[in-house]
Amino acid sequence: MPSKPRTLAGILHRRRAADAEYNRARRGDPDRGVEDAVVSSARWKALRARLLRDEPLCRTCAAAGRTELAVQVDHVVGVRARPDLAYDLGNCQPLCGPCHGLKNAAERRSGGVGGTSSSHASAAYGGARGPSTFSRDRGET
Ligand SMILES: [Zn+2]
Repeated sequence: MPSKPRTLAGILHRRRAADAEYNRARRGDPDRGVEDAVVSSARWKALRARLLRDEPLCRTCAAAGRTELAVQVDHVVGVRARPDLAYDLGNCQPLCGPCHGLKNAAERRSGGVGGTSSSHASAAYGGARGPSTFSRDRGET
């Protein structure tokens, strides 16, 4: 093992190297950049506001017979999987906080590609992998 740096400069250098590594990893994830670019864009904010105005209730809750105010707009098929559908109204759905959180958690568990793996949305949209994937993924983790 190489000797530890004993000078402040050496310690700071190591810390900066770690920071640079972290930033490189973040930048190296192109999907993250795509998502950030979409949700921070004026186009998305306008689309989001319009959708929440036109359809103020959570779509997943509505499908289950519940009435819950939507506070977020979700991409049915994730931006990572289909960046070309990022601004497609047909690919956007209003969700309440809990439903959005559940969907995102399910997507993370299934590898983070997003979109086709969650239960409610993929069932409603005839997702390719089907609703059974959701419970299987839960069982594995
Ligand atoms: Zn909901």
